[in-house]
Amino acid sequence: MHGLGVSAGIAIGHAHLVTLASLEVDHYSIPEEFVTREIKRFDKAVKAVRAELDALEVDLKAAHKLDAQSGDIAAFVTVHRMLVDDPTLSVEPRSIIERECCNAEWALKSRVDELLAQFADVQDEYLRERRTDVRQVAERIISALSGQGGAVPEKLRERAEDTILVARDLSPADVILFKDHQVAAFITDLGGRTSHTAILARSLGIPALVALHTSRELVREDELIIVDGTQGIVIVDPDETVLAEYRLKQHQSTLERQKLGRLKVATSETLDGISVELHANIELPSDLDAVAQSGAAGVGLFRSEFLFMNRRDLPTEEEQFEAYKTVAEGLKGLPVVIRTLDIGADKALDPSLSTSGHSALGLRAIRYCLAEPQIFNTQLRAILRASRFGDVRILIPMLASAVEIRQTFAAIDVAKAQLKAEGKKFNERILVGGMIEIPAAAIALPMFLAKLDFLSIGTNDLIQYTLAIDRTDDAVAHLYDPLHPAVLHLIASVIEQANLAKVPVAVCGEMAGDVSLTRLLLGFGLRDFSMHPANLLLVKQRVLMTSVSQITEHVAAIMRSGDPDEIRERLEQLNA
Ligand code: PEP
Ligand code: MG
Repeated sequence: MHGLGVSAGIAIGHAHLVTLASLEVDHYSIPEEFVTREIKRFDKAVKAVRAELDALEVDLKAAHKLDAQSGDIAAFVTVHRMLVDDPTLSVEPRSIIERECCNAEWALKSRVDELLAQFADVQDEYLRERRTDVRQVAERIISALSGQGGAVPEKLRERAEDTILVARDLSPADVILFKDHQVAAFITDLGGRTSHTAILARSLGIPALVALHTSRELVREDELIIVDGTQGIVIVDPDETVLAEYRLKQHQSTLERQKLGRLKVATSETLDGISVELHANIELPSDLDAVAQSGAAGVGLFRSEFLFMNRRDLPTEEEQFEAYKTVAEGLKGLPVVIRTLDIGADKALDPSLSTSGHSALGLRAIRYCLAEPQIFNTQLRAILRASRFGDVRILIPMLASAVEIRQTFAAIDVAKAQLKAEGKKFNERILVGGMIEIPAAAIALPMFLAKLDFLSIGTNDLIQYTLAIDRTDDAVAHLYDPLHPAVLHLIASVIEQANLAKVPVAVCGEMAGDVSLTRLLLGFGLRDFSMHPANLLLVKQRVLMTSVSQITEHVAAIMRSGDPDEIRERLEQLNA
């Protein structure tokens, strides 16, 4: 099968078919003589979910003695535990199985659908929100019917390193869970190159392919598969010769990685002595190990929204403060750029927390934060308080207008004034930067240069918005093109203007970690790259092998060309 390789490397392992949207169930008939057995299967699943929730409740109550947040989660578990005992979910599906001779999953789903439809008419918002609980409990029962339990499939706990996940789609929230149960690789039928799901795969350093379209139909559970994330190929049930060939390739790439490891302590500068800063992008404080192993000069992008995902409540100021402080201290004086909440598009909050859709063109990132001043204030206070413990900087995502810049600074001033009044210490001269990821910002750059301490170019969104290509949509993934002349001109012009104005500028989108673009960006005048730690040493190797004075003419020729084929050809020569 051919797909879009979004994270390089080779994995060999056994397929595990993931059904995360588990309310999509099949409907089939049961012969009458097996109806009793089907009811027993249903009862067993309900019993398993009861036991699972009971155990969770006990654990959380014990943890609650240590932290307040577990108490809140325990309250949700209690609601779920009560719902399992509700006859609608645990008794009525039995009569449906009996009456209609259908499978247990279908019986439960039809009951749940009816119930959810009734909820839709309820006026009371609190009660209406309980829809999510009903759905989640039903999904738990359906998971138990398929022999799985909890959000992370049982199988992953046992032998994650040998498991290749095969899914229709995975959300960034699903993938972040793999940080604790790292799988060998994953492949999905939907998705695009710079969807956050793909970005996370690269950060985990595991091969991944998206946009395969039919993998869910073609791959069977437990089948042996090879995933080649570099070539964008999946081989199902390979013969011995192919298997041996891929084992050899895998071994070679391990050796190459080990060799690269030696560059960790090398000074990052070009052949003609130009110093280039290489920073790391992180999602969670637990990524600090990978940052240390990469030898990064600090964290150039902390995507703080991942602290807000996979949970039913918002992180408190205290919790955020602890997370930011951990990173600031862990970096031992190296800088950390904390990006304020960039929720929206494919990074969603729990539906119970936020009702609007936050589409890519909607109430996303800074727009959302300015519309929810309380949430923004809590985060700004937490970041400011952490600024005492290291070199902490603030980065604002998705800025497009002067009004937003003004409102953002006003919000920062309010947070600072509150902390001062409370006698809480922070770095009063904390640097505040802005992401340049909307074409309007790139075009009207002087407005941003005048107000901000530094800039960071988010090429993922800049490409998405310049070319009008949804970065998560597999149908247009082939049109998503970092080398489009319009994109290159915007990036080159932002770097040039920032350098002239002496405002520090970095690139923190995926282009920064793509080694085939390192020389091009150096030629544009970029001296600060921020990328996933897994890519950093490869980029450093390229920096060490580049002489900026020798590529300038070549890069100018690329910029003069408006023809995509010629641009590609010239880029190949540049990298040769
Ligand atoms: C970007 O848009 O390039 C970026 C770095 O931000 P994110 O990928 O999180 O949207
Ligand atoms: Mg972005």
